[in-house]
Amino acid sequence: MYLVATPIGNLRDITLRALDVLKDADIIAAEDTRTTSILLKHYGISSKLVPLHQHNEREKTESMLAMLREGKKIALVSDAGTPAISDPGALLVTSARDAGFEVVPIPGPNAAIAALCASGLSEKGFVFAAFLPAKSSERRKVLSSLKDCTRTLVFYEAPHRILDCAEDLAEILGKDRRVVFCRELTKLYETIHSCTLEEAASWLVSQQKGEFVVVVEGGVLEKQPGVSEEGRRALAILLDSLPLKEAVKLASKISGEKKNDLYDLALKMREQDVL
Ligand code: SAM
Repeated sequence: MYLVATPIGNLRDITLRALDVLKDADIIAAEDTRTTSILLKHYGISSKLVPLHQHNEREKTESMLAMLREGKKIALVSDAGTPAISDPGALLVTSARDAGFEVVPIPGPNAAIAALCASGLSEKGFVFAAFLPAKSSERRKVLSSLKDCTRTLVFYEAPHRILDCAEDLAEILGKDRRVVFCRELTKLYETIHSCTLEEAASWLVSQQKGEFVVVVEGGVLEKQPGVSEEGRRALAILLDSLPLKEAVKLASKISGEKKNDLYDLALKMREQDVL
């Protein structure tokens, strides 16, 4: 089974290998067969299309496995970008692999990665947080859990929620953080706008159309009161290769800092590394 990435707007953003696999497939399982047929027509591909979307993925998985057993080649595509990334496919992938079939990714376009590389915020690594909940109270909860994360945050968002989302981002993550809105990537009205979260709402008021990826600068680790720069640096280095308690003990010996202060700081550092 092949997972084939398809364009996120510009039909020319497809790899030669993706075209080969789509041509050669016995079946192309598509999120929306009408959308995919535009792509197939453009490239003169006539492989059979079957629908596989979030509402039928469970029931279709069985028939897909049966086809794989018959030796058929299946290519899975979504409406845009990489299948199974905020799109259907993960269940089929797991089931196919569990049943002993080879699952082959055919990499290509992905909106999150395109946005991240254009944001200039890619240096520190990133957390792909996909879609935030639609309800503000739920969204705020998720954002609170990401507040201390020092990695860049990448979100998908629908145009009708982008303004509310930006307001929650500013309130929960802090107004000074940099944000980059990547709208309509690879399309005619592609827009990449960078500002602070405080400035975001006023820019967005006139921009609420099209598809968005939101890239937000990561948080800054707050200084633990009472811990010197030397103690902090020693702890960070030791934590890389030692268990927490040992790292704290040695850092305390090196810097003369109190073990308790270093211990609290170590917990925060570990937490943020995991996030
Ligand atoms: N599987 C896709 C991928 O690999 O990027 C993502 C599918 S997800 C259902 C759709 C979301 O991706 C949109 O709501 C938007 O946040 C983002 N997206 C897709 N195409 C985009 C584009 N051309 N420009 C900006 N964002 C896009």
